[in-house]
Amino acid sequence: MTTALKVSNLKKTYKNGTVALKGLDLTVQSGEIFALLGPNGAGKSTLIGIISSLVNATSGDVEVYGDCLTKQRNKVKSHIGLVPQEFNFNMFEKPMDILVNQAGYYGVPRKAAIERAEKYLKQLQLWDKKETISRSLSGGMKRRLMIARAMMNEPKLLILDEPTAGVDIEIRRSMWEFVQQISDAGTTIILTTHYLEEAEQLCKNIAIINHGEIIKNTTIKQLLSTLDIETFIFDLDKNPSEELLKLLDAEITEDNSIQLDVHKSKALNDVFKSIDGLGYKVLSMRNKVNRLEELFYKMTHKSEDQKEMENQS
Ligand code: ADP
Repeated sequence: MTTALKVSNLKKTYKNGTVALKGLDLTVQSGEIFALLGPNGAGKSTLIGIISSLVNATSGDVEVYGDCLTKQRNKVKSHIGLVPQEFNFNMFEKPMDILVNQAGYYGVPRKAAIERAEKYLKQLQLWDKKETISRSLSGGMKRRLMIARAMMNEPKLLILDEPTAGVDIEIRRSMWEFVQQISDAGTTIILTTHYLEEAEQLCKNIAIINHGEIIKNTTIKQLLSTLDIETFIFDLDKNPSEELLKLLDAEITEDNSIQLDVHKSKALNDVFKSIDGLGYKVLSMRNKVNRLEELFYKMTHKSEDQKEMENQS
């Protein structure tokens, strides 16, 4: 198996004294879609910044496809495509020009650059927008343009920083499809995300960062199995009776809405049956919390508790 990324004992202390990475180790295999999860301030952007040469490490090593960042920086750069969170292309340029210029930075001859731009504009379904001023593209299209631009040096490793932050579910799903296609075509992908569903959909392996350290490096399946209770909100067609609340051990959140914890061993279908049995209709249902937030909370508190225990022993 080829190693796409190997990070060893990576440390970063910013000038103001903030310790962002505390000796981080991470390995990503070639061909993976790997998710980097973690609460805000955990160190994800710093790690991505170092891998893509935007931030200098204080110490430690990064290897991308066997090339060492400190010794072969340009070679490492040529392996990487980065899609940052913010749109940072010139809004007054057209997608075709943005892509061709980008290829130019990597020394791709113009004719080859145009062919490559065509390939990625088509793959990311932007071909009919190639001559449109980018400012007028929709949010989803702008995100796809960012990905197409990052593909212009045909990177072996594509890094996506929160590719679907703040977009609606339809755009999110279509982004997942594009990411999957890029992966299928042979590019290794690392993404940061706040959505557990995203990691669940795309990735086999994940790492969770907290306070500049990896606190968990495992499969998404294993991670999800540690979540045993989910909180749901059901919106009903009428005000719930005491009987229903008692039966489900639920509480009212607002008019006609109830909240309850469902253990993963229990089928959600049974909850529906109980509601139905008492003559109510479920108009809609949703998760109360972002499961990932819940997980971070659980894990980061657990690791702090463990540290405390270690300190005491
Ligand atoms: P994440 O991407 O997981 O939210 P970051 O890597 O942005 O985390 O931040 C890690 C820590 O480093 C935070 O405490 C953040 O405030 C700090 N930090 C990030 N960038 C800088 C900077 N340029 N100067 C000083 N501190 C920074």
